[in-house]
Amino acid sequence: MQKHIVILGAGYGGLMCALEARKKLTVDDARITLVNKHDYHQLVTQLHETAVGARTDRATRIALGKVVSGKDIDVVKGTVSRIDPEQKTVQLEHGEVITYDYVVVALGSEAEYFGVPGMKEHAFILKTVNQARLIRAHIHSCFARYLYERKPELLRFVVGGAGFSGIELVGELADALPKYAEEAGVDYSLVELYNVEAMPSILPGFDPELVKLAQESLASRGVRFVTGVAVAEVQPGQCLLKNGEVIETETMIWTGGVRGNQIVVEAGFETEPRGRAKVDAYLQSVNQKDAYLVGDCAFVLGENGRPLPPTAQLAWQMGAAVGQSLYHDIKGGVKEEFKPVILGSLASLGRKDCVGKVGKSYKMKGRMAYMVKEAGNYRYLAKIGSVFH
Ligand SMILES: Cc1cc2nc3c(=O)[nH]c(=O)nc-3n(C[C@H](O)[C@H](O)[C@H](O)COP(=O)(O)OP(=O)(O)OC[C@H]3O[C@@H](n4cnc5c(N)ncnc54)[C@H](O)[C@@H]3O)c2cc1C
Repeated sequence: MQKHIVILGAGYGGLMCALEARKKLTVDDARITLVNKHDYHQLVTQLHETAVGARTDRATRIALGKVVSGKDIDVVKGTVSRIDPEQKTVQLEHGEVITYDYVVVALGSEAEYFGVPGMKEHAFILKTVNQARLIRAHIHSCFARYLYERKPELLRFVVGGAGFSGIELVGELADALPKYAEEAGVDYSLVELYNVEAMPSILPGFDPELVKLAQESLASRGVRFVTGVAVAEVQPGQCLLKNGEVIETETMIWTGGVRGNQIVVEAGFETEPRGRAKVDAYLQSVNQKDAYLVGDCAFVLGENGRPLPPTAQLAWQMGAAVGQSLYHDIKGGVKEEFKPVILGSLASLGRKDCVGKVGKSYKMKGRMAYMVKEAGNYRYLAKIGSVFH
């Protein structure tokens, strides 16, 4: 009998899962429905470039209809409001209810604000193409307003968080702000770019030698680092730090943490304190075996017993693994446990610099590292058949 696989979220994990499952399963075996808020897939790993205008919105979106064309995958554009694992149903915001035999939850993550007052209300975040567009428009308006208002806070930009995505954004801003200033006819020496991080150093957990290189590269382009100090509060026009300092700014961009999608918590999946679902070795929910969870909303422990980081490369690996497991669920055979492969971890520092590791230990830096990172982006596009989108 034909089974119904419903995949929630067409990001890195969900899209790869749909494509892999369809490679293995015929239409007689399974109907596959892919539900996503938008009718496009977003290249989230490139949003820091889109946020400063170094990449177009169009280049960061891929029409889902094109990716799944001819593959017998039904795309439903809709926002999931509720998952009921007991009834095996998914409810969409506009009221539609979808029933499933197997569900794959790949809804990604949400910003973690750590309860900092005013952060949610007054800071930008960068997780979608539309948010990238908002940041870009805001930076433009800051320069335009400065020409009339002459307020220094309009030219002071603060990125909260110096993890992977924060540093990549800081790198792009360090490259782009001189161009914004030149275009507006504003003296660039008036522009200030801050990166605030609660941990003692930027890129926590990264190789210390690479951290030093990254910090030097960004500092040489004028980035002011404030490390070991948490943000205490954000108010309109102000970022207040735990050490009592106040940065007067019209632009606070928060990249300081992520947590699992709230829908996962509300569905009753067993989660850890940051809202990511606990899964078994096959990425099935520990308390709802007909549900798989992949990507940023899954809590997976690595070989060293520490949680795997929320990355695109792991999300699509999880998606592909679940695609295979669904085949075995439906057609029989032995499922394989999920084994993450760490391809590397490269943090771009703008267009001309990058630091990181390829494989587990080969260190890279500079333009060559940036090109290797770009090659990784193309490799992913080739996997989903969308190099020319
Ligand atoms: C600026 C930036 C740079 C990054 N750089 C890298 C990098 O270089 N390398 C790397 O490996 N990782 C990087 N990451 C992390 C990476 O992007 C995430 O780990 C990855 O996107 C997670 O994939 P996912 O499939 O779990 O979720 P996502 O890719 O976020 O996909 C989730 C999907 O679910 C949809 N969705 C969400 N809620 C709903 C709902 N209620 N109803 C319907 N649909 C919904 C979304 O629209 C989206 O399509 C970066 C992240 C950022 C923000």
